[in-house]
Amino acid sequence: MDPAVSDERIFVIVGASLAGAKAAETLRSEGFTGRVVLIGDEPVRPYERPPLSKGYLRGEAAADEAFVHDEGFYLEHDIELRLSTEVTGIDPTTNEITVDGEERIPYSAALLATGAAPRQLKVPGAHLSGVRYLRTMADADQLRASIATANRVVVIGGGWIGCEVAASARQMNAEVAMVEMAELPLERVLGPELGRFYRDVHADHGVEMHLGVGISELRGGSQVEEVVLADGRVLAADVVVAGVGVTPRTDLAQQAGLAIDNGVITNEWLATSVPNVFAAGDVANAWHPILDRRVRLEHWSSALNQGPVVARNMLGAKAAYERILYFFSDQYEIGMEYSGLAVEWDQVLFRGDPASREFIAFWLNSGRLVAGMNVNVWDVAESIATLVASPGHVDPTKLVDPDVELSSLARESA
Ligand SMILES: Cc1cc2nc3c(=O)[nH]c(=O)nc-3n(C[C@H](O)[C@H](O)[C@H](O)COP(=O)(O)OP(=O)(O)OC[C@H]3O[C@@H](n4cnc5c(N)ncnc54)[C@H](O)[C@@H]3O)c2cc1C
Repeated sequence: MDPAVSDERIFVIVGASLAGAKAAETLRSEGFTGRVVLIGDEPVRPYERPPLSKGYLRGEAAADEAFVHDEGFYLEHDIELRLSTEVTGIDPTTNEITVDGEERIPYSAALLATGAAPRQLKVPGAHLSGVRYLRTMADADQLRASIATANRVVVIGGGWIGCEVAASARQMNAEVAMVEMAELPLERVLGPELGRFYRDVHADHGVEMHLGVGISELRGGSQVEEVVLADGRVLAADVVVAGVGVTPRTDLAQQAGLAIDNGVITNEWLATSVPNVFAAGDVANAWHPILDRRVRLEHWSSALNQGPVVARNMLGAKAAYERILYFFSDQYEIGMEYSGLAVEWDQVLFRGDPASREFIAFWLNSGRLVAGMNVNVWDVAESIATLVASPGHVDPTKLVDPDVELSSLARESA
């Protein structure tokens, strides 16, 4: 098509966050000249969420550092960014979306990038004020103010959000207790060896750890004052932060009749079961050709990288999303990157001593490297990803030998 002639197609993106914003950016960088409508129900332009439990929560990083694009970007690129606007329906029979219950916008292709929402506590007292969740910038602003005046913060859940909030709250000088149903924090994702590592990190930083126990009740007047554990112990609390997982925001997809199973099901091109409707980011349970299974990844890098791939596919390409999973976490002085996906494993190997807090952990299953995690060791994540993606077996003695460069091992295996 002559680029001077505007494309007649209209691409509507539901969810103005990382996946949605990167998709909009890519539609323009690929030369699309038709309408791009990016709709989000939050009042601020797209931003990245990782700082919300780290520097932004602690008041050390400004909002400007979190935004995906400069303020002028959307206007300059003729992206119709509509904030504080809820998409209330998608009609795949007429190819229209409904906005705020009334206005209808036709689409040639629609992208669902609606993300995920925090799972709510379901115990008595969960409604009390001072019980908080963390997903949005507004949540982080409120939580920062609460922690600043709190004597005691109780974090429910020892997953990534719970661990990072506990670390930030300690760094803000609050007294912190963590309650986790599993025997160790992060055990579900990392297993016992690394769970023990993070337990010790938090304990060393003064977090009171209550592991292997759930909660039965939150008590207080209008404001939360106590957390009652399932074994009857009672913890004092001015603020309770619940990090008990998220659920994909699939309401729209469900109502539109899209196939759903732990998120919106997509193929490797991020196309859903309904023509011209795509999904990306935290909401998408996408077929991964290398892993040979579907995965729904609640991680920054998936939103960042699926956005551009899905945009190309909305334009007609058939590009598979096949990147190796990557995520990172910062807690106190411990930074880590994780590459790959260990769902099942029979061996965990270490290069370096975890006690030194500078090491790399490798997960192997039947001799195959399935994931690696570098802790306070940098510039190796790419090599680990290459090793994970390579079909052959890696020599475990070389993996653990600090004298063998991971980059050379990766070159050999690629
Ligand atoms: C506090 C926090 C810290 C994190 N830290 C890390 C980290 O260290 N490392 C890492 O890898 N990942 C981290 N993550 C995860 C990462 O931020 C997410 O994977 C990423 O935000 C997913 O992006 P997304 O665009 O798919 O969805 P989201 O960021 O959830 O955005 C979806 C957007 O769609 C909007 N929306 C939903 N439904 C509608 C509708 N009907 N109409 C209009 N708008 C709608 C939502 O309000 C939201 O703005 C963190 C997440 C949080 C909350």
